[in-house]
Amino acid sequence: MNPNDLLASVSTTSDEAEIYTPMPAGYKPGKTKYVVVFGTVMSGLGKGILASSLAKVLKDKGLTVAPIKLEGYLNLDSGTLNPFRHGEVFVLDDGIECDMDLGTYERMLDQDLTRLNFTTSGQIFSRVLEKERKGSYLGRDVQMIPHVTGEVKARLRELAVNTDADVVFVEIGGTVGDVENNYFIEAMRQMAFEEGPGSTCFVALTYVIEPAALGEQKSKAAQLGIRSLMECGIQPHVVACRARNPVGRKVREKLALYSSVPMDRVFSMHDCDSIYLIPEMLRGAGLDTAVIDILKLADRCHPEMETRARQTWTDYITRLRAASKTITIGITGKYTSVRDSYASVIKAFEHAGTHAGVKVHIDWIDTTEITEENVAEKLAHCDAMMTPGGFGARGAEGKITCIRHARTIGLPFLGICYGFQMAVIEFARNVCNLEGANSTEIDPESRHPVIDILPEQKQIEGLGGNMRLGGRDLQIKPATLTAALFNNAPEVRMRFRHRWEVEPRYIEAIEKAGMIFSGKDPNFPIMQVLELPQSTHPFFVATQAHAEMTSRPLRPDPLYLGLVKAAIARKSHANPITESSNPTWTASV
Ligand code: GLN
Repeated sequence: MNPNDLLASVSTTSDEAEIYTPMPAGYKPGKTKYVVVFGTVMSGLGKGILASSLAKVLKDKGLTVAPIKLEGYLNLDSGTLNPFRHGEVFVLDDGIECDMDLGTYERMLDQDLTRLNFTTSGQIFSRVLEKERKGSYLGRDVQMIPHVTGEVKARLRELAVNTDADVVFVEIGGTVGDVENNYFIEAMRQMAFEEGPGSTCFVALTYVIEPAALGEQKSKAAQLGIRSLMECGIQPHVVACRARNPVGRKVREKLALYSSVPMDRVFSMHDCDSIYLIPEMLRGAGLDTAVIDILKLADRCHPEMETRARQTWTDYITRLRAASKTITIGITGKYTSVRDSYASVIKAFEHAGTHAGVKVHIDWIDTTEITEENVAEKLAHCDAMMTPGGFGARGAEGKITCIRHARTIGLPFLGICYGFQMAVIEFARNVCNLEGANSTEIDPESRHPVIDILPEQKQIEGLGGNMRLGGRDLQIKPATLTAALFNNAPEVRMRFRHRWEVEPRYIEAIEKAGMIFSGKDPNFPIMQVLELPQSTHPFFVATQAHAEMTSRPLRPDPLYLGLVKAAIARKSHANPITESSNPTWTASV
């Protein structure tokens, strides 16, 4: 049967139908192809990195791509997840709080995503239950198959309709064999069947173990992992092998034989210095053309666009590799032992460092251990300091102590979100002499609540999805350091995730004492960027926004870049670079 006929036959949802495939209006069968990435053996192998790199190499060919992550957990979004367990909560422009992998996609593809690109089991099941209450299932008992799987397929097709994508990249969360992700795999099997041959490319990401005691690579775990996938009815087209070292021919041959995947599609995705090297690794192994062949997309590709895109990317990689000098930036935070909680921050420094021609060494400084006595020693080796976002009282006083130190000794400083609020508290206490100044998040009884809960937040109860979230415009004050960093753009757009803000009645006193609020909300008295005049400090900037979330390899965030340049200047005892513009950055308003 031709795929279009098949789709026509399954799109009915009568009470007798055994197949349930709700088809969004405007869906064009055959227009959108699907690449689905599954993880085997263990989680944390970088499915998002593989999927986004593959998406990038196809995008470079002129194809329109749209990623989607399917998460097995029952939460509606990632907003209430502890970054200790799940890594950072990434916020998209439309305000959805999602998995950190969405950050990887935005950075790799240089593309803004929306809530359509992120689905959890919680979202799928709520939709099913809503429909059940409305009687949409026409008297049927509602089942995992076909109703829940039908909803998964509907999400992919809705994304296809909304983005008009040539290729939708699906990343299945977790590992093959997890109970909570099994129905996603089943939905993908059905999807490939319904869409027909040449519509779907299945990619199995696996792990090749190299036990130190043996000193050689072993393929058994990878074989078993791929076998579990095949037991679900999925025949992979591509196998990507994560490993410490390049995966040898012998192991790849074994995997090819056991998984019936041709050798040239068994790809070694071994450790490398930066994830941004992976697109070139994929191209080098010919996987871009392999996927194009499998999906029969050759006639939609534009070789001249690819040449240009590849050149730009190669230039970036060359700069990344060429950076030889190192600067040290101290990150003064609370979750410093779990790197994934600062995934975007690390990337923003990598982008800024590459553009400024240095390697950024990050020194993680746990502020729960900072005191007045040890602060100078703990920060002595840092060329600059950054205080990231955070929540709650623990470690907050240590952050304030660090900021005071940075302010008084002229150490370049960037504060992000909570770091911005801590900078205001420090200034209020030590410069404005507002004794006991604090945030009501830390001390609800503070005499001077210079940071207080946003008026719109005061009525809200519960914790899910209720912060000031997503993209907002910022009005930039002319003739400030901030304005110079943003190339004098009058307005810029950044991402937010906070509940507290500078209490408006303290703004005047703070500004009188010398702090400049250089970025504000265009419509409300919400302070978004602050700085100290450069006559008093070489680089003291903080923002209520999560500037790292909009940093991209080819368009580094201007504030992070400013800090890195100030650190270079400090290290070489020169003046910080503030006037020089950042030619690659344009206001994204
Ligand atoms: N806890 C602060 C607030 O809610 C800062 C949040 C953050 O750093 N993301 O306003």
